[in-house]
Amino acid sequence: MIKKDIRALDKEALRAFFVSQGQSAFRGNQVYEWLWQKGAHSFETMTNISKETRAFLETHFVINHIRVDQMQRSNDGTIKNAVRLHDNLVVESVLIPTKTRTTACVSSQVGCSLDCKFCATSRLKRMRNLQPDEIYDQVVAIDQQSRLYFNRPLSNIVFMGMGEPLMNYNNVLKAIDKITDPEGLAMSPKRIIVSTSGVPKMIRKMAEDGVKFKLAVSLHSAIDSVRTSIMPFNETFPLEQLRQALQFWYEKTKSRITYEYVVWKGINDNKAAIDALVEFCKFAPAKVNLIEYNPIEDGMFSQASQAAIEAYVNTLERHNITCTVRRSRGKDIDAACGQLANKKDVKIN
Ligand code: SAH
Repeated sequence: MIKKDIRALDKEALRAFFVSQGQSAFRGNQVYEWLWQKGAHSFETMTNISKETRAFLETHFVINHIRVDQMQRSNDGTIKNAVRLHDNLVVESVLIPTKTRTTACVSSQVGCSLDCKFCATSRLKRMRNLQPDEIYDQVVAIDQQSRLYFNRPLSNIVFMGMGEPLMNYNNVLKAIDKITDPEGLAMSPKRIIVSTSGVPKMIRKMAEDGVKFKLAVSLHSAIDSVRTSIMPFNETFPLEQLRQALQFWYEKTKSRITYEYVVWKGINDNKAAIDALVEFCKFAPAKVNLIEYNPIEDGMFSQASQAAIEAYVNTLERHNITCTVRRSRGKDIDAACGQLANKKDVKIN
């Protein structure tokens, strides 16, 4: 018999399971609390459940908990986790500390279905989607590290690790439900950012679903031919479709959109590129994050000059578009944006 992961059952299903076994539905609440609030890795640890019931659960279910196999710490305090899944695949997640915050950068897929030329993760083909609990566990692990190393709980979450979250939408949504649930981690959705390369249909779906988290779009170019050359799926989802979907998002949610944008030498470090970005930012309130390029051993890309970045900043500010220049974190341990690719051969302890 293949045992089912007990965390695939929601609270009602757990309660119903116990009732079907002639036990009280309340057992379901207790087990639920162990699984989602106390982060139990095994049935053994569920001490307020009788020995017989624990043994019974053991014969029917597994808890496919993630395991942090390797933790690397950067000089700037950033921590990168190699996270081993029950089927031995590995994803990465990152803890990013600042003076006042701890941000978790989590993965949504093993590998990635997209093919952005500048991103290390795109070299790994997409192997599978992460389950809601595998996403949730990454967050819990980073929350624990934050308490241990920085004496404070996790404050923010960004879905900017491996994978395209909107290509695993249902599971990402279920994970966020657990993260924000008062019976889970009780975090505010306002402190969660889902970052997408821009899948128009799914952006519309999110807007219709009335999600409360924030949206970031990896734009990198507002000119179709340029964007397609560095993010080939732009051919399938061109900028006009993206723009319309984002406009719909803004009308429904009234939530400002953040654009992530790397400036590369010879690719988008020119006036036409800046003007196109300014134009793209006009249809809805927007903020631009200019991200430093993190080299990924590819001759095609190099960081633009300081002058080119300043030209972006000056023009955006002149048009009253909020913009920040984001320095990279954790570069020395390959934990920065676009560098997550299971480079280190991960050892099992
Ligand atoms: N698939 C999602 C989330 C993962 S990428 C998305 O595309 O948004 C997280 C961010 O890192 C994206 O904005 C991505 O464009 C950026 N990124 C990827 N490779 C990078 C690199 N080498 N240097 C800097 N940023 C990079």
